[in-house]
Amino acid sequence: MYDPAVAPTPTTVGELLDTHDALLLDAYGVLVDGAGALPDAAPLIAELLRRGTPYAVVTNDASRSPATYVRRFAAMGLPIPAERIVTSGSLIPGYFRTHGLAGARTLVLGTEDSYRYVIQGGGEPVALTPGIEVDAVAICDDAGTPFLDGIELALSAIVRAVEAGRRPRLVLPNPDLVYPKGGGELGFTAGAMALLVEAALGRRYPGGALVFERLGKPEPHLFVEGKRLLGAANPVMIGDQLETDVAGARAAGMAVALLAGVSRWDATSKITPTYLLERLAP
Ligand SMILES: [Mg+2]
Repeated sequence: MYDPAVAPTPTTVGELLDTHDALLLDAYGVLVDGAGALPDAAPLIAELLRRGTPYAVVTNDASRSPATYVRRFAAMGLPIPAERIVTSGSLIPGYFRTHGLAGARTLVLGTEDSYRYVIQGGGEPVALTPGIEVDAVAICDDAGTPFLDGIELALSAIVRAVEAGRRPRLVLPNPDLVYPKGGGELGFTAGAMALLVEAALGRRYPGGALVFERLGKPEPHLFVEGKRLLGAANPVMIGDQLETDVAGARAAGMAVALLAGVSRWDATSKITPTYLLERLAP
C-alpha cells in the first residue's frame, strides 16, 4: 500500500552527486535509446569525470559485448571504458558453466554478440530450423534473429523436448519487456518474447514450472557486480523502469532514482523509488 512516509523525493542529478559517492547508470532510457545518445548523457559523463565520481553502466542488454558498447558509446560522444560496463549478457557464460551446460545444444535468439556469450559459456548454438532438438534456450534480444519465427521455434523445441521426457534449461538474461526506440516509439524486447513462450507453455503444461530463469535486473547479479566495481559506500542507481531498475536496486539495498521515461511512478505503484528525476542534466 502507498505510504506517504516513504514517497519518493523529487531531486536533480546535481543533488544526487552531492549526496551519494558513486552512480550506477542504466543504459536504455537513461543514456541512450534505439536512435542514439539521449541529450543529457554526454554532459552527465563529462560532469562525472570532472568530479571524479565513480560510475558504472549496468544494463539488461544481452545483445552487445562491453567492447561493442565502447565503440557504440564512443560514436555517440560518450567516452565510457569497457571496465565500467556490465551487461546482462556477461552473466551468460557463468550461468552456462554453473549449470553444466558445456556442449548444450542451445537455441539462441539475439545478435552475434549474444551467440558469443553463449559460446563463451560452452553452449553450442543450433541453427534456427524446424525440428531442432535443444538442451537449452537463451532469449537474449529482439534483434539479430526473427522475432516471431524465433519464439515459435523456441516454443516448438521446448515442447518437443518435454514430450521426449527432457527438461531444457530456459534462460532470459534481459527481462525487460519494452525499450525506448527513439522519437517516442516503444519496442518489445527479450522479456516480452519470453512471456509469450511462457504463456503458451503454461497452457500446455498448467503446472507453471516451465519458466525462464532471469539473470538481469531486477535479479541481484548486476547490482552486486556494479557495486563491486564502484567500491563505494553510498551509491545511487539511476534507471527508467520500476520493475527492473527500481525493484532490483531496492532489493540490493541501494538508493535509486527513477528517471521519467518508460515507467511512471504514482501513488498506486507497488514499487517505490527513493527519488524521482525529471531529467538527467547535471
Ligand atoms: Mg532502461
